[in-house]
Amino acid sequence: MMKIENHKLKSVEGDFDILYQETSNHSNKFATALPDTIVIHYTAGSSLQSSADWLCNHDAQASAHIIVGKKGKIIQLAAFDTITWHAGISQWNERKNLNKFSIGIEIDNAGLLEKRADGYYTHFGEKVKESNVVIAKHKFDQEEKAWEAFTQEQIKVVEKICFILKEQYNIIEIVGHDDIAPERKRDPGPAWPLRKLKETILYGRKDDNSDQITNLSKGIVTADYLNIRSKPSAQSSKVTDPIPKGTKLKILETKGDWSYVKVEIEGWVSKKWLKTF
Ligand SMILES: [Zn+2]
Repeated sequence: MMKIENHKLKSVEGDFDILYQETSNHSNKFATALPDTIVIHYTAGSSLQSSADWLCNHDAQASAHIIVGKKGKIIQLAAFDTITWHAGISQWNERKNLNKFSIGIEIDNAGLLEKRADGYYTHFGEKVKESNVVIAKHKFDQEEKAWEAFTQEQIKVVEKICFILKEQYNIIEIVGHDDIAPERKRDPGPAWPLRKLKETILYGRKDDNSDQITNLSKGIVTADYLNIRSKPSAQSSKVTDPIPKGTKLKILETKGDWSYVKVEIEGWVSKKWLKTF
């Protein structure tokens, strides 16, 4: 568990490793009703601590609110009510200079990798294990490139932080640094699951397979009552009571004359007969 107290992250039951290391690289407090946006970055640095130290160094003229290490350790550099310097020259929709509107989350990651004869290397000369190399095309590039993979801990911890930030500050947008500075920036890049993070945090979608489902289409039941079965066969068992006419459903897969569907029904039910998770 994690919570925000005085605009700082706190681990509730000691299950998160959170350190506060204050940077002097910041401006004043946010204006009323701000921040409302989260900007995701990778550090392109060699370690969590070296990136934290750099963003606390006056010479950097840069900072962020949070850095997340490869094992999920969190270093907070400034309180969430304070403007930090992570976005630089930037624009999103009609707004310019996103520092004034956003919380910056840096993730310890080398970013773009360099291919050499014997494998892939970071820009600071460290060889990266094959299993930690992601070959992917950045949305603003023409060709595929190599990127360092993010860790599962980073994905989980960043999602958790975004979740409680949204509860506290009414976050309405999550963007990558590349989205707001496409001429200059490529972070967090294609190795970071930004779409999934946005769907989970902003739209509350919990479906873990949402990135894999393609060609998703919707349907509506035209029979008076339609049986829903465990296998694509009229002999197989029924999953539940027949679905009434007019019910809307999502078609996840089609096999011959059969469609695998997810039923979406909305309505009021007696609360005492519900188990919540
Ligand atoms: Zn950045």
